[in-house]
Amino acid sequence: MLLTFLKRLPVLYSAFFQSWQSFQQVDNLATISLDSLRNRGIQGVILDLDNTIVSEDDRYLSPSAEAWIQQAKQVGFKFFILSNGKRRYRVEFWSHRLEIPALSPARKPLPMSFHRALKAMQLQPSQVIVIGDSRHTDILGAFLVGCPSIQVATLPHPFRWWEKLLGKRVQTPYPAHLELWNCEPY
Ligand SMILES: [Mg+2]
Repeated sequence: MLLTFLKRLPVLYSAFFQSWQSFQQVDNLATISLDSLRNRGIQGVILDLDNTIVSEDDRYLSPSAEAWIQQAKQVGFKFFILSNGKRRYRVEFWSHRLEIPALSPARKPLPMSFHRALKAMQLQPSQVIVIGDSRHTDILGAFLVGCPSIQVATLPHPFRWWEKLLGKRVQTPYPAHLELWNCEPY
């Protein structure tokens, strides 16, 4: 068994790095073309919440993100939110506001919550795109379950100590020239 694993190691290694490097990167959710998703056979979206839709300190909203989600729903895309956030009331608030089922804490990149989302959407991994701002949780998790993924730039938020060290390796800063929407207090 060990020998089989070792023999497969170069294949796994190259598959991992190809996938790691081939994910798509965009500035924000609303710039993703629904037509291009549909042309790729995508029928469902697993969405991250913090710093993808709303900044984790609740200051900023991703511009037009809510309109994009509503439009995607109208043309038949299914949605599921997976958040690693531990403040469950916040995830519940956004789940209610966006009318999307949500799971938190999702413990991404571990595959369990991704499998639960896929099961809830009744879709295969190749039919579901994972969209989030963090490579080590959203993008890696997508890879582990076989979903394609898109990384959005991370909305401005107070950086944690590890983000100061590793931030640019796992996230892309939100471009300074792009608009940001303020989040209404809730
Ligand atoms: Mg995030």
